[in-house]
Amino acid sequence: MRRTSVSRDDVILSTMPFMIAKDLLEDLVCPACIQPLEYRENPESLKCGKCRRVYKVEDDIPNMLLDEATIEA
Ligand SMILES: [Zn+2]
Repeated sequence: MRRTSVSRDDVILSTMPFMIAKDLLEDLVCPACIQPLEYRENPESLKCGKCRRVYKVEDDIPNMLLDEATIEA
C-alpha cells in the first residue's frame, strides 16, 4: 500500500525525545513492544502494560531509552 501522508505516530517518533506536549504523553507507545503506555503521576512516568517497563518523565519530557527504563515486578 502506498503511503500518501505522514502518520501521527511518525510525527511523534520523529520529535522524540524532545519537547512533547503533555497531552501527547498518553499517546506514546513503548519502543520495545509498540504498545500504548499508561501515564502515571507522582512521580511522572509512563508504564508499558506488556513488558512492564516504566519510562521516567522529566520536565514533561519522556525518557524513552530502553537502557534507562526500569522494569516493575
Ligand atoms: Zn513494552
